[in-house]
Amino acid sequence: MAKLTKLDDIVSLCKRRGFIFQSSEIYGGLASCYDYGPLGVELKNNVKRAWWKNVVQMRDDVVGLDASIFMHPLIWKASGHADKFADLVSECKKCNTRTRVDHLQDSETGTKKAEEHAEHVSMATEESKQYNLANKVCPNCGAVGQFTAPMPFKLMFETQMGANAEDSMTMYLRPETAQGIFANFRNVLDTTRVKVPFGIAQVGKSFRNEVTTKAFIFRTREFEQAELEFFCEPGTDEQWYEHWKEQRCNWYLNLGLKKENLRFRDHDPDELAHYAKACVDVEYRFPFGSGDWQELEGIANRTDYDLRQHQRGMRTLNRWYESGRDLTKIKLADEAEDYQSGPLSYFDEEKKARYIPYVIEPSAGMDRSTLAFLVDAYDEEEVRGETRNLLRFHPALAPIKAAIFPLVKKEGMPEIARSIYDDLKRRFNCFYDEKGAVGRRYRRQDEAGTPFCITVDGQTLQDQTVTIRERDSMEQVRIATAQVRSYLYDKLDL
Ligand code: ATP
Repeated sequence: MAKLTKLDDIVSLCKRRGFIFQSSEIYGGLASCYDYGPLGVELKNNVKRAWWKNVVQMRDDVVGLDASIFMHPLIWKASGHADKFADLVSECKKCNTRTRVDHLQDSETGTKKAEEHAEHVSMATEESKQYNLANKVCPNCGAVGQFTAPMPFKLMFETQMGANAEDSMTMYLRPETAQGIFANFRNVLDTTRVKVPFGIAQVGKSFRNEVTTKAFIFRTREFEQAELEFFCEPGTDEQWYEHWKEQRCNWYLNLGLKKENLRFRDHDPDELAHYAKACVDVEYRFPFGSGDWQELEGIANRTDYDLRQHQRGMRTLNRWYESGRDLTKIKLADEAEDYQSGPLSYFDEEKKARYIPYVIEPSAGMDRSTLAFLVDAYDEEEVRGETRNLLRFHPALAPIKAAIFPLVKKEGMPEIARSIYDDLKRRFNCFYDEKGAVGRRYRRQDEAGTPFCITVDGQTLQDQTVTIRERDSMEQVRIATAQVRSYLYDKLDL
């Protein structure tokens, strides 16, 4: 039975083996910011690639996009982020620490009440009245019921764009990638052959000035999201919602996450953002946090809300110029009576009907998934009286696919091993190592999650065969050197 993994074990392995480092460490570190090291960048790139392969490459009905991080400020007015994207926070009067009220725990039960968990996008100051903080414990100093009245705390980072006073304006770092997709809906329709139902997918950085960051790369202020906006005809949305729930769950399972660590959690009706018809979280049982189960991905039926809002946003442009380009001074324009035939509507050729498509949105965190894959793959086992640490990564995610060793540094073995390495590295990420005892070299690769180690030994010189050792079982097979490439292609499912 595998030992229960603790987050500390993962953090220390990540540091020791160069997966993830604290940002700006040589300057004492920068809280909640992390850098992906040599193995980490390969792992995270593989997670992103696996998502792209599954959501874009393997499908005929999804196309990709890479929108810029800076977007027209009105986009955030139309999406609702400029006015409403805030967390309700409360300050402890004893230690002055601010905490999200939906994260506060009860002193007696140690639980957060489900009805108190509100989607922050839909929070308004009025809603703060529903919170009774008399029994809540400060996570920093332990004081009970010492909280100030909840206040909204804006989550979008602001910055200034433009060198001259006349054209300088307040910009926002995007808090989600999705709006770049809605803003390009018309462009994609006009330049490709897509027909509803179809999706637009994007992977990229997002930024939120989170009140509390936590648990390593789980919640940070700069993170990467993989989002799909799938546009469908109203009336077919429930069916597509079910389709994407199943697809997304299978993606995690097929990449090796254990079934018992994955579950769906439907949002309660009072937890739903006002525009959402349904929303479910894909949750993973992380070895930390109060309830262990934490969100990996949200899947929402967003109706036609976003495209309709952007039609209103487009009609607000003049007001924005007249206000001196100040979002805080303007109101979003009303919806046109004939919004169904507006610029972001869709004409269905077959049905000869025009409508605004509904949207199903699976929105996944790439850093959170990377952490889940790390935690789930982590294992320790006793082998002949020694502890073996290993990462049982799915081959598609493993940072290094194969390591190549000469058994000893003589008799021509390094030359043969190098020529195998030179051939394989043109196709996938490989590692060559000739230093130290071969057993130790295997152990180092186990800890990096490398699924295969190829060893050139004395017999190779006689019969042109090598051994291939498999990480999980530690079993070795002997195969002809000429077969190595096809053997690995098959096993790696490339
Ligand atoms: P939470 O309630 O945990 O703050 P959320 O419901 O606001 O998350 P969404 O807006 O649905 O999250 O974002 C979609 C996904 O993006 C999340 O499921 C998560 O994987 C990822 N994500 C969101 N915020 C962060 C963050 N601060 N750090 C890392 N990943 C994040």
